[in-house]
Amino acid sequence: AMETETNSNDYISSVIPGWFSEISPMWPGEAHSLKVEKILFQGKSDYQNVMVFQSSTYGKVLVLDGVIQLTERDECAYQEMITHLPLCSIANPKKVLVIGGGDGGVLREVARHTSVEQIDICEIDKMVVDVSKKFFPDVSVGYEDPRVTLHIGDGVAFLKAVPGGTYDAVIVDSSDPIGPAQELFEKPFFESIAKALRPGGVVSTQAESIWLHMNIIEDIVTNCRQIFKGSVNYAWTTVPTYPSGMIGFMLCSTEGPTVDFKHPVNPIDSNDSQSKSKPLKFYNSELHTAAFCLPSFAKKVIDSK
Ligand code: SAM
Repeated sequence: AMETETNSNDYISSVIPGWFSEISPMWPGEAHSLKVEKILFQGKSDYQNVMVFQSSTYGKVLVLDGVIQLTERDECAYQEMITHLPLCSIANPKKVLVIGGGDGGVLREVARHTSVEQIDICEIDKMVVDVSKKFFPDVSVGYEDPRVTLHIGDGVAFLKAVPGGTYDAVIVDSSDPIGPAQELFEKPFFESIAKALRPGGVVSTQAESIWLHMNIIEDIVTNCRQIFKGSVNYAWTTVPTYPSGMIGFMLCSTEGPTVDFKHPVNPIDSNDSQSKSKPLKFYNSELHTAAFCLPSFAKKVIDSK
């Protein structure tokens, strides 16, 4: 088992003075580094170490237990894709649930969809919400939408209490499976998501990197194929400040009206002009389709499960 006790301090100037190095047993032998101009916040919540620093080239950076969660410069690549890949694949999303995502970036993206009437979010750590509101206004702006209801708690418990067939879409914007997010990668949690979705409902989850975690991805795909009888797909995006420079998503649908994730039926580009929010920086319909094209080594594993 990988050690879980970490301390953000260990990563400042432990390798290169004045640089943050993302050293973790989850990616042994490598560590992405960012130059630190100023540490803006350091705290320890009931769940994890929380740190914010001003980098010299990526804006402000949010770090949880020594792992980069988002930077102002490249968070769009993750928030836009994890949100619009599912929501643009169904005609008329109305009720959406976000698990994790305490920074508010996914909320900001869900709010672009004018058909959405209800946005619930369940984030375990209030410190993440407060820190994002203080240091990342362009990300936490998502909380200003009147359709949003914030629940502070464990996503596992929250989903257990959700009546069957409630949501059109669930987005699991979780940290990695070390620490509070561990159970968000396990089969019972996926089963509770399937129950909470309507027939033909969709789920999008943070699903790690094909360069670093093919073993984790294999397990997730195997579980999803047993649970989601609509379709099971893996898509990916490029995020320079994530280890290996990319991260993937599981895109699944429950039995019911067919969902073809690869050909968006609800293009967001069109109604973007209506929303008062800032224009999309990353997602577009062509990239939506392309995101499901995989390198051969990954395709072989994922298609064989
Ligand atoms: N959205 C960010 C980005 O742009 O990549 C990264 C992910 S977000 C910061 C991950 C969130 O999941 C964290 O705020 C963490 O507190 C939350 N989380 C971890 N385990 C959780 C659980 N069991 N239930 C609810 N939220 C959880």
